[in-house]
Parts: sequence; C-alpha cells; structure tokens
Amino acid sequence: MARLAQTAGLTDVQQEILKTVREFVDKEIIPVATELEHRDEYPQQIVDGLKELGLFGLMIPEEYGGLGESLLTYALCVEEIARGWMSVSGIINTHFIVAYMLKQHGTQEQKDYFLPRMAAGETRGAFSMSEPGLGSDVSAITSKAVKDGEEYVLNGQKMWLTNGGTSSLVAVLVRSDEGHPEGTAPHKSMTTFLVEKEPGFGEVRPGLTIPGKIDKMGYKGVDTTELIMDGLRIPANRVLGGTTGRGFYQMMDGVEVGRVNVAARGCGVAQRAFELGVSYAQQRHTFGKAIAEHQAIQFKLAEMATKVEAAHAMMVNAARKKDSGERNDLEAGMAKYLASEYCKEVVEDAFRIHGGYGFSKEYEIERLYREAPMLLIGEGTAEIQKMIIGRRLLEEYRFQG
Ligand SMILES: Cc1cc2nc3c(=O)[nH]c(=O)nc-3n(C[C@H](O)[C@H](O)[C@H](O)COP(=O)(O)OP(=O)(O)OC[C@H]3O[C@@H](n4cnc5c(N)ncnc54)[C@H](O)[C@@H]3O)c2cc1C
Repeated sequence: MARLAQTAGLTDVQQEILKTVREFVDKEIIPVATELEHRDEYPQQIVDGLKELGLFGLMIPEEYGGLGESLLTYALCVEEIARGWMSVSGIINTHFIVAYMLKQHGTQEQKDYFLPRMAAGETRGAFSMSEPGLGSDVSAITSKAVKDGEEYVLNGQKMWLTNGGTSSLVAVLVRSDEGHPEGTAPHKSMTTFLVEKEPGFGEVRPGLTIPGKIDKMGYKGVDTTELIMDGLRIPANRVLGGTTGRGFYQMMDGVEVGRVNVAARGCGVAQRAFELGVSYAQQRHTFGKAIAEHQAIQFKLAEMATKVEAAHAMMVNAARKKDSGERNDLEAGMAKYLASEYCKEVVEDAFRIHGGYGFSKEYEIERLYREAPMLLIGEGTAEIQKMIIGRRLLEEYRFQG
C-alpha cells in the first residue's frame, strides 16, 4: 500500500472520475477553503466548477441527463471533496438525497420534471425533517398538511435545513391526517412534499419563509436555516410518489444513503487531518530532532493512519452493499458511527501534533477541529446509530432457546 484509503476493484471510469475530482479539490478547493470558511462565504466559484464536472447529477440515471454512477463512486467523490472542505460536500449531500428519493419514490411525472433540472444543477435540493423540538425523534413531527380541494395547506416550523437558502427544491416531511384516522402510528401518517421555492431569504414563496442563516461554530460557507410554513399551499401532484402516508419510509431510505455519505465525509476530513499532521511532524523540531522522530508522535501517526484505513474500508463496504441491491442499514450505521468518531479523534491528534500553532487560525487544522463535531450529529447522532446497529444485531442473532 503506497498511500492511505485506496479502493481495490474500481473500474476505469470510476478511477477517471476520482482523478478528476481529486485534481479539482487540490487546485480549486484546498487553496481557498480556509479563507472562505473564516469569512463564512458561500463558495460560488467552487459550486460552478462542480456543476461543470457534472457532480450534481453523479447518481442521477443517464436517461435524465445524469452520469448514472453508483453510490460507491458518489461516496468516493464525497470523500475527496470533504478532504478539501467539508462544507462543499454538504452542498452536494442534501441535493443528492433529494435526487435519490425522487429516483426511488417519485412518480414518473415528478422524475421527468425534476431529475433533468437537478442533474444540470439548475434545481438544487434540500431536505427537511428536523424541527425546533425534535431531531432524533422524527415520529414527533408536528408540522402539518391538511387537504383543501386539489391542494394541501402546510403549517409549521422546520429547523436545521442544510442549503435552506440556496436550494430551490425542499423535500419537507410533515404529518398528514388525510386518510389516516386518529390513532394511526406516527410513521404511517407522514408525507413528503416537494416544495419548490426561490433561492434566497425572506418570503421565498407565498406562505413560506426562510428567515436567515444560523450562525454556526463550523461547517461555514454552506447555509443552514429554519423554514416557516404559514398557510403554504402545495398541489396534490407534489406529494412525493403521489400517495400520502409514505413520507417516513421515503425519508429513512434517503437518510440511509446519506449516512454512507456522512461516513465518506468523516473519511475525507480524517485523511486531510492525517496529511496535515504527518507533514507538520516532519517540519517541527524539538530536543534536536523532528517531532516525527519521537516515538510518541510516531505512535500517534500510526493510530491516525489505522483509523483512516478502517473508516475507509467500512464506508466502502456499506456503499458496495447498497449498490448490490441489499439492505445496508447495519453497515451504513456502523460506517457512519465509526467514521465520525474516528474523524474526531484523528483531527484531535493532528491538532495536538501542531502544538500551539493548531490553535492559530493560520493553520488549516483549526478549521477541521471546528468541522469534525458536526459529523457526530448530522444524519443521526452516535446514539441513534448504536440503536439501529443494536436492533439489527438482535434481528440477526435472535436467541433460539
Ligand atoms: C449543521 C447542521 C445541519 C443539519 N442539517 C439538517 C438537514 O439538512 N435536514 C434536517 O432535517 N436536519 C438537519 N440537521 C439536524 C440533525 O439531523 C439533528 O440535529 C440530529 O438528528 C439530532 O437531533 P437534535 O439536534 O434534535 O438532538 P436530540 O434529538 O434532541 O438529541 C439530543 C441528545 O440526546 C441523544 N438522544 C436522543 N434520543 C435518544 C435515545 N432514544 N437514546 C439515547 N440518546 C438519545 C442524542 O444522541 C443527543 O446526544 C442538521 C443539524 C446540524 C447541526
């Protein structure tokens, strides 16, 4: 093994795509990421470049103008991009989840209408489950849709929309009582609505307000917002899949591929932290030699590299399982859990290797240190992953006494 995080068995096309993305990251992202992040500036030029490369349509089928690539190709691209700047992978991620949900669950009309626009990056997706009062407990959603003729009227407040301002299509999960009598299990009375809107802030469509950007400790550049629905009218043909009551399952399907994506981000950020750590350790001298020559630092580097390799292997395994058509919730949960925890640890070790300079905004590791914690939370916290993993283990290893 020459370098970390190599992937065996890739096709020529996959290798070509990854090479192109890696070059783009090294040339267009890494040199500007920290400066843009410190200014909390949206990376428009980078996004335009990604559009040109076709990355917004990477997994959208060719018949809709996309590249029709696998989850594995997508995840490996995300890993490369997050190595450059995690926020950029966040810009693609919610778009990818919405496109995936449309591909899997949309009506033919919805696919024909949205997917070509999404493949071109003209329509950009966000997805919205969380509310001010809930994140992990999706079944507690209070936003509501009520049928009124051929339309639904939506009311409620949503929280934490990645790309809430810059997107033009939001998949919103709400409770819909129509056809679901009182007492129906919460997850059977939820519906995903495809809400089109103008990008930007303020009232972006009658009845729909995006108040402004939430000020975050990291993961800057990409906008994260609230979303307020006050008498928002949505036509019945914008219910994802055409039938109410399926939203919970559609969203969980989307989040499952999203988890592989978050694992890939953890791998990318950890790789960058390792690169920064191993480079600094050879330049900084103490007690007459490079700190990389002190065994304690070498041990740190060894631990970091091992974590980078393990997380990458689990992420690739989870993506390949989904690509083979099999259920991958166990593998995706494990990969997301391990990659985000390891990422945090590798970043912390790289930070320690930098000594006092790691605390300076002049050094890239300072940015990574503020970015890594987001991966512990987004797409389901570590505790939620462990609940999923635990439940699946008990299914597989049911006691036969
Ligand atoms: C920057 C950012 C971007 C985001 N983007 C999006 C987005 O685009 N769309 C979207 O819908 N959401 C988004 N989220 C929301 C994110 O998915 C939630 O924050 C996350 O699911 C956790 O929910 P919560 O914050 O409400 O925490 P809570 O659910 O309140 O959890 C608080 C703590 O309790 C623990 N906990 C909760 N339940 C249990 C349990 N049963 N057993 C043990 N421990 C438990 C949790 O693990 C956590 O440690 C984003 C969040 C952030 C920070």
